[in-house]
Amino acid sequence: MSFVDRRRLRNDTNTDIIPPMTDRTESALRGKIIETCLGMNRLGINQGMAGNVGARLGDGLLVTPSGLAYDGMKPSDIVFLDKDGRPAGKRKPSSEWRFHYDILCARDDVGAVLHAHAPYCTALACLGREIPAFHYMVAVAGGDSIRCAPYATFGGQELSDNALAALDGRKACLLANHGMICIDRDLDGVLALAVEVEALARQYCQALQLGEPVILPAAEMRRVLEKFKTYGKPRGGE
Ligand code: 13P
Ligand code: ZN
Repeated sequence: MSFVDRRRLRNDTNTDIIPPMTDRTESALRGKIIETCLGMNRLGINQGMAGNVGARLGDGLLVTPSGLAYDGMKPSDIVFLDKDGRPAGKRKPSSEWRFHYDILCARDDVGAVLHAHAPYCTALACLGREIPAFHYMVAVAGGDSIRCAPYATFGGQELSDNALAALDGRKACLLANHGMICIDRDLDGVLALAVEVEALARQYCQALQLGEPVILPAAEMRRVLEKFKTYGKPRGGE
């Protein structure tokens, strides 16, 4: 099925991968989205009103409102979008609701999306540079590089299309002249991944100042990716 055919959130979300959300968990999820936004600013991977966070809720999604400070944001400010992308409530959804929606439509393995203007990721993205396999931890994002999506105006469909292509088979990408996106199973996972990706971007920028970093061969990255399937998991997986 082509991506365009799937540009609609489905009712048959794979419950083996993403646990179903009930109404009782909705207010908790709204609070957790705000906590994640405050966390990304506190951890130095975003600043001010930049960035946005979304999470799957049943056959729709919750996303931060557009242009509202995270300090003082209330659970009722978080916007619900239904399975066709129609918003409900008093606030406008994030200007980037399209990529939140499109990613969740296309990726059954994803329950949370985080977009930040993380300083080092953004510095590389302003040069249109990806993060290559200069360090084995690049595999944390699912491949042997963290791609940089071509530039497109913020809040548009083109940016969403570019981001989705750059995220193919991956859990993170840079956005040229803009910032980064991370995706993961849940909000805790996506925040932790974003911190890791920004640390990699910083290390890569610092290594570039000293010379030309050594890039690990594809075969080595394949080995690392294989090891990551069981790394940090309970015994019995290896
Ligand atoms: P929103 O406040 O509309 O989410 O915009 C922030 C942003 O980072 C746009 O790319
Ligand atoms: Zn942005």
